Amino acid sequence: MPELPEVETIVADLRPHLTGRTIAGCELLFPTIVRYPEPEEFADSVAGMTINAVRRRGKFILMDLDNALLLVVHLGMTGQLRLVDPLTPVEKHTHAVFTLDDGRQLRYRDPRRFGRLLLGTQESLHASKKLPRLGPEPIDPAFASEELYRSLRKRRTSLKAVLLDQGAIAGVGNIYADESMHRARLRPDRMAAGLSRKSVQRLHESLRDSLLLAIQNRGSSVDTYRDAWGEIGGQQEKLLVYGRAGQPCFTCGRPLRMIRLAGRSTVFCTNCQR
Ligand SMILES: [Zn+2]
Repeated sequence: MPELPEVETIVADLRPHLTGRTIAGCELLFPTIVRYPEPEEFADSVAGMTINAVRRRGKFILMDLDNALLLVVHLGMTGQLRLVDPLTPVEKHTHAVFTLDDGRQLRYRDPRRFGRLLLGTQESLHASKKLPRLGPEPIDPAFASEELYRSLRKRRTSLKAVLLDQGAIAGVGNIYADESMHRARLRPDRMAAGLSRKSVQRLHESLRDSLLLAIQNRGSSVDTYRDAWGEIGGQQEKLLVYGRAGQPCFTCGRPLRMIRLAGRSTVFCTNCQR
């Protein structure tokens, strides 16, 4: 599933190409990929709108249109948002095609269809519960270690569960939760509320480090992730623990262990992470 670094890579690539462009039309090949409002209303409303900004919030891609409307894309498990020449053959599982005023097309493709498209003001999307309220951005310089400490203090669940909770911290999923806990030398099954300030400081720094490094390397293509040009990322070859269960820990050489935690497979080193 695309997480913060993958979505950030797509957004940064699309921004210079989309900002200031007008959406000439929208064709929905699989209308139920639109979750709000009704697909027909969605397609009618986006036509003629100008894209004033392209942003990321958590794992959501946000495009600011006219009249305070947001065009929201969540890639789900296998979603891909690509900017292509209109003559590019339409790939299987393409569900929505936005034609821009310069003739290029922004296409949304999603084999497993867990992704979604939304349109509305921020207030209407929150009110309809289609856009969840998200926690702070872990790479925001204003996000302090003390804030992370206070939010972990309240939680009587595992550290892993809190890191995956989008309402606690936005944008972190299975890959970067495991990577950052390994960097911070913390066991994923530690009780979140029991962490010391010092441990949380390490976690805070490790979250930033693992996310920023992954952005630098254009994300992890561990499964179907592709950037806006259809290319794979480079971080998958540099992951420390994710996808490496049974293989030796890079620090101590012992085999990495996999457990189920918060419903997700979780890989860590029983020796380095305490
Ligand atoms: Zn180790």
